[in-house]
Amino acid sequence: MRRAVCPGSFDPVTNGHLDIISRASRLFDEVVVSVLINKTKKSLFTIDERVEMLTEVTKEYGNVRIDTWHGLLVDYCRQNDIPVIVKGLRAVSDYEYELQMAQMNHRMAGVETMFMSTNPLYSYLSSSLMKEIVKYRGDVSGLIPELIHERLAARLQES
Ligand code: ADP
Repeated sequence: MRRAVCPGSFDPVTNGHLDIISRASRLFDEVVVSVLINKTKKSLFTIDERVEMLTEVTKEYGNVRIDTWHGLLVDYCRQNDIPVIVKGLRAVSDYEYELQMAQMNHRMAGVETMFMSTNPLYSYLSSSLMKEIVKYRGDVSGLIPELIHERLAARLQES
């Protein structure tokens, strides 16, 4: 079985993430979306909430499942027999960091990283930008799923 992992924070998932996940799901037998637990990074949604939202918006893809991980991504890959990490590249600014990570992951465990060029529709999209726009009631239609928009608006109203 050809398996790949799409790692990230997904706080919350955007259409940019979904574009990469859906394209990966057509290339691999199974795609695992792994929500990486990073205790030093302040997040708006809990891990369970992020998993729940990802599960909902990826349910139409039959071969995508959601998981979580705390630790080195290469250890996750080893434990789950996943030889490939799939990442989206938005801009040159993503490249330097991603290249370093890809080279280190390859050195540590022989895990390959495949980069997908971002759909130009979403190249300027990030979870943090979505939070900022929704906070001030800006228009995010077409950039995040409606369900995520509702959850985001509700959470931002609470805070
Ligand atoms: P991180 O905390 O690693 O930045 P994110 O959840 O923001 O996690 O993103 C996870 C991964 O999803 C990124 O490394 C990138 O590969 C991909 N990604 C994020 N935003 C986009 C986008 N707009 N278009 C394509 N890929 C994206």
